Amino acid sequence: MIVAIDGPAGSGKTTIAKLLAKHLAVSYLDTGATYRALTLKALETNTDLKDSKTLAQLAEHLNIEFKDKKTYLDGKDVSAEIRMPIIDKNISIIVSYPEVRSVMVELQRNLSKNADFVVEGRDITTVVFPDAKFKFYLDANPEVRAQRRFKELAEKGVKIDFKELTKDLNKRDDADKNRKVGALTISHDAIVIDTSNLTIDEVVHKMISHIISSNQ
Ligand code: C5P
Repeated sequence: MIVAIDGPAGSGKTTIAKLLAKHLAVSYLDTGATYRALTLKALETNTDLKDSKTLAQLAEHLNIEFKDKKTYLDGKDVSAEIRMPIIDKNISIIVSYPEVRSVMVELQRNLSKNADFVVEGRDITTVVFPDAKFKFYLDANPEVRAQRRFKELAEKGVKIDFKELTKDLNKRDDADKNRKVGALTISHDAIVIDTSNLTIDEVVHKMISHIISSNQ
């Protein structure tokens, strides 16, 4: 069984998907983390971000593992590093290349095979798992999303100007919604939840209620 969740940055996806997986006692995959790890690898290796062919090759050989709620790249824990603003600034161009995405989609399907999974990202309900048993689209208004991201970074001790963060978030949103392949869209069969004025527990509760009622 796959529970597929899409939505923009700051919609609460990651926190909610993790909690939902815990409640359902299934595994969890953050596909954003796979693209973030690829971006880190590209920056570390000084790969030309306009060279889609080399980036796709880098994706083919990406040595990524998820263990104990941490992300490992080439055996090193990069969980904190992949959340830094430098990754946010460079990721959009890398994830826009169809040849990169097709490799990454295969990787994501492989990572979530042989078990029940909650999988979250931007194109999970439409491209990665179009036949998922349960599909959700989480959203929130842009101000709330920027505030959440600001708080998340502040909690990690990262200082960033709020205006700059909002600008970067809007830019990333635009790129996510307008790319040719794997764009962020609402799947016709997804349940849409606006999380702006809901607590995390309220959202998880709504999702579980839906899953239970459609299983009956
Ligand atoms: O979810 P998160 O914000 O960590 O994702 C980082 C970036 O990775 C997003 O801005 C988006 O551009 C990209 N992404 C994607 N497809 C996915 C998941 C994430 O293009 N399935």
